[in-house]
Amino acid sequence: MRVPAKINLHLSVGPLMESGYHEIVTVFQAISLFDEITIRYWEENISLLNKTVIDISARGTFANGVPLDDTNLAVKAARFFFERCKIETPTKLSIDIKKEIPIAGGLAGGSADAAGVLLGLDNLFSTGLNKAELEELAAELGSDVPFSLSGGVAIGRSRGEELTPVLVRGNYHWVLAIAHQGLSTPVVYSECDRLRSGLVISPPTLNQNLISALASGDLYNLGNALSNDLQAAAFSLKPALKLILEVGKDNGALGGLVSGSGPTVAFLVLDEESAIDLAVALTASGVVAGVTRATGPVHGAQVISSF
Ligand code: ATP
Repeated sequence: MRVPAKINLHLSVGPLMESGYHEIVTVFQAISLFDEITIRYWEENISLLNKTVIDISARGTFANGVPLDDTNLAVKAARFFFERCKIETPTKLSIDIKKEIPIAGGLAGGSADAAGVLLGLDNLFSTGLNKAELEELAAELGSDVPFSLSGGVAIGRSRGEELTPVLVRGNYHWVLAIAHQGLSTPVVYSECDRLRSGLVISPPTLNQNLISALASGDLYNLGNALSNDLQAAAFSLKPALKLILEVGKDNGALGGLVSGSGPTVAFLVLDEESAIDLAVALTASGVVAGVTRATGPVHGAQVISSF
């Protein structure tokens, strides 16, 4: 399975609710930065408490830091799938992740892996779930998992799991500034609450200018319309992000923002040539740990080969 990272072109965060969550309105775009998931299963002549043994392994650029136990979202997705689909579970399953999406980067890498496992197991066990059923399972696993399945560009409401596809013209070039160390999503939300304390926070809203810019493919308007309510919190936790954003804007970016809870900063550029120029400038500036280029929108989780 090939699963894409997402960036948030817009993230509006409402007040903290009693449930402990924030209602959000976001616009996701799936981009061409992919993890690859390989799943194998086999039966063994041993009875192990009727529970599937799951081996998890990781390789690739960001393999270090992938949890190799039951806390991995890919493993959680597999157990959840077996439980929900009530299918005869195999005695042993192995999940290998080629990790090319930075961890805790605001790019929903863990959610992408969970989506890949759901799709892969549906395929392997011929469960025949339709799109809506798969998305329902995905939403129970995590707010970003349904979008990792569907890909493209979509508005995410509630906690991000209620999706509406967005009409988009054109293909967009992005340069991503990647940090050494990730940011924890709950910590960024808490910092956002701390910075907003004492203020009256309105319900989250959608930026219509951004939707119009996507529909017309107007890169300049899109660059101006990018926004993220979590950005101030990410800056507060990692002040260097502000400088990265300035370097990007001084070197040809049409717009830039912290993606989701960060710390990845995504820059929109005019074309591939501008993307190369900006990637070189960011690297030369010494303010970023890593730089990568991507385009979007791309498909959500896809089966790329099965045996
Ligand atoms: P969000 O979806 O909240 O934007 P993120 O993109 O910032 O998340 P992830 O890469 O999904 O962050 O990782 C968040 C945490 O999830 C990490 O700290 C990591 O320990 C844990 N995790 C569990 N499974 C995985 C996985 N398969 N890949 C990456 N991280 C995982």
